[in-house]
Amino acid sequence: MGEKTLKFNSKTIHGGQQPDAAYGAVMPPIYQTSTYAQTTPGGHKGYEYSRSANPTRTALENSLASIENGTYGLAFASGLAAMDAVIKLLNPGDEVVSTNDLYGGSYRLFKKVFEKFGIKFNFVGMQNAETIEAAINSNTKLIWVETPTNPMMNIIDIKAVSQLAKKHGVLLAVDNTFATPYLQTPLDLGADIVMHSATKYLGGHSDVVVGALVVKDKKLADELYFIQNASGAVCGPMDSFLVLRGIKTLHVRMQRHCENGEAIAKFLAGHSKIEKVYWPGFESHPNHEVAKSQMNGFGGMISFVTKGSSYEDAIKIVEKLKVFTLAESLGGVESLAGHPASMTHASIPKEEREKSGVVDALIRLSVGIEDIDDLIADLEQAIN
Ligand SMILES: *Cc1c(COP(=O)(O)O)cnc(C)c1O
Repeated sequence: MGEKTLKFNSKTIHGGQQPDAAYGAVMPPIYQTSTYAQTTPGGHKGYEYSRSANPTRTALENSLASIENGTYGLAFASGLAAMDAVIKLLNPGDEVVSTNDLYGGSYRLFKKVFEKFGIKFNFVGMQNAETIEAAINSNTKLIWVETPTNPMMNIIDIKAVSQLAKKHGVLLAVDNTFATPYLQTPLDLGADIVMHSATKYLGGHSDVVVGALVVKDKKLADELYFIQNASGAVCGPMDSFLVLRGIKTLHVRMQRHCENGEAIAKFLAGHSKIEKVYWPGFESHPNHEVAKSQMNGFGGMISFVTKGSSYEDAIKIVEKLKVFTLAESLGGVESLAGHPASMTHASIPKEEREKSGVVDALIRLSVGIEDIDDLIADLEQAIN
């Protein structure tokens, strides 16, 4: 099908996909099996045990590689399982430089799980290349970037960080969960590894927990595959099927997420009771120019703070919302609202999170694809 020449909106549907070899099924069957018959020891058709490989997972992994402009995709049981595999590339004594405005679960994995194995994590503001470079030393093996960041919507210049990574001979991994390849493709900007919580926009329907890695380099892919198979946190066949189905509409959903996101960001910014709105599409956003240059749109993730609002006021607003559901997570077709200080970021010490702007009164929205009038009316009643 001339895969390489397909545009993104076709790759989501056809990328890496072929009708199933057995009966020509257009959607890959859910191969709900742990093992595969062999004619003679080692005489199999490419699959021997489903931790090592499963045809439904292979179909998803090929799709992931295609949409991220990579070569190899790996699907895991969750986004954090995918990150866990990346950190297992490292050895005791190695160091990682990461952003100080990181998804709470990523921070917890780094600090509470891997630090005790002798890996050191340095969290810095990544808006400025000198700050990142100052944190790199001879033990640094990996730079971990998340952009846009969660929940402050800071934008990190992937190309600039990749130049630093190359200069110092360290790997660059980018958590592309918020942007998705519809908005940005980090491998094209020089990253070595792209990571996803496919639980979010790729799955898109809040019905599955899945993680993904995509790389270009064969040696790196082999190392990650070894860890995936050896540690075993793989994505099951049913979950692979669901994410694959989600990816087929990614471009259509993202287009609407962006449109609704823009309308809500502008509504909030013009509201007399709102103090501050964090959304990279505003020209006043400190990293707007970088966002414009590396993204094809600004997404549907928005954070805001109400005027003079306290912890209690923020809680009241999220409780009053009716169309927006108060829930953790993001990226589904339905709109969600969250209170980072008590929910997603509760595991980060108050001092640490306030340094990066995650104040008690901050509310984060994952704007869904419902009718925009209903979403705005809901916010209006809750804020008033
Ligand atoms: C949700 C999320 C993760 C973790 O993924 P899980 O699928 O929940 O394990 C990592 N990074 C970001 C940005 C996320 O939003």
